[in-house]
Amino acid sequence: MEEKKSRISLDNKKIWVVGHNGMVGNSILKKLKKYKSNLLVTEKKDLDLRCQEKVQNWMKRKKPEVIFLAAAKVGGIAANMAFPRDFLYDNVMISFNIINSAKLINVNKLVYLGSSCIYPKNVKQPFVEDSLLKGELESSNQWYSLAKIAGIKLCEAFRIQDNCNFISVMPTNLYGPMDKFDDINGHVPAALLNRFHLAKINDLPKVTVWGSGTPLREFLYVDDLADACIFLAKNYNSSQLINVGSGYEISIKKFANLIKEIVGYKGKIIFDSSKPDGMKRKMLNSEKIKKIGWKPRISLKKGLKLFYKWYLNNQNILRR
Ligand code: GDP
Repeated sequence: MEEKKSRISLDNKKIWVVGHNGMVGNSILKKLKKYKSNLLVTEKKDLDLRCQEKVQNWMKRKKPEVIFLAAAKVGGIAANMAFPRDFLYDNVMISFNIINSAKLINVNKLVYLGSSCIYPKNVKQPFVEDSLLKGELESSNQWYSLAKIAGIKLCEAFRIQDNCNFISVMPTNLYGPMDKFDDINGHVPAALLNRFHLAKINDLPKVTVWGSGTPLREFLYVDDLADACIFLAKNYNSSQLINVGSGYEISIKKFANLIKEIVGYKGKIIFDSSKPDGMKRKMLNSEKIKKIGWKPRISLKKGLKLFYKWYLNNQNILRR
């Protein structure tokens, strides 16, 4: 159900950024600091988002008026294949608890973060929003996709049945500060940045990159996504999900070479074909957000330079 709701102001609001220690939540929180709002955050050790009763009680007490739901169990292709239960159960529970409680306390606006991996593997690319549920999912990340699709559909269901202003945002592959640098379970940007850096400082002759190097990926710097989420929180009120991409795709081989150049590593790159490629291509069509007035500002090269600078300056707090 589409509906017309006026522009929402983020000033003088109680805003809960869920998942503020993660890459996306951290960036959204940083950007929200310029608004005259009361920003709420919760720590994992104090509030288990998978527990319905605890989440509901906390939300009834604190009464956030706007929510950015960026908390999720995330990881790269290997983590998705190794921890199917966590990716499905944790993510469904986190999303469902918060979305349901948001209705109970009459939240003004909820921005739900999904992912480009919700789209079926064999539909036309770049993916348009309408291709959701039009085909089979990529098996390597099906657990995470299913959980995210359930969250999107729940936002839609609450809009239809209860007129809740909940929106779903689908980012393309992200990178940036606070990403996880785990060599096996991280996503490709953080895993490679860390691997090339260690190879450089340890004078290693070669660096291994997974798969064939031929898959294509679209990458977006996380601060651009945070900017888009805030823009959409203020300006977008529809049951239909909305894509946020950079519009620029690159092969993993070229991407690895770009990271090699930025890190200043001089050795060789080896491709390990025993590791999975995952989707051959994963590119979003971001025409819709462009039409309503938002576009990314940070090029891949600039973003990777910022990412490396942050990595070098934050060795003591890197998440693995
Ligand atoms: P995906 O977009 O869900 O497949 O997420 P990833 O970020 O895990 O992987 C993206 C692509 O990068 C896949 O084709 C991987 O095979 C490739 N890749 C190359 N080297 C690495 C690596 O060290 N870690 C990860 N996660 N992927 C890598």
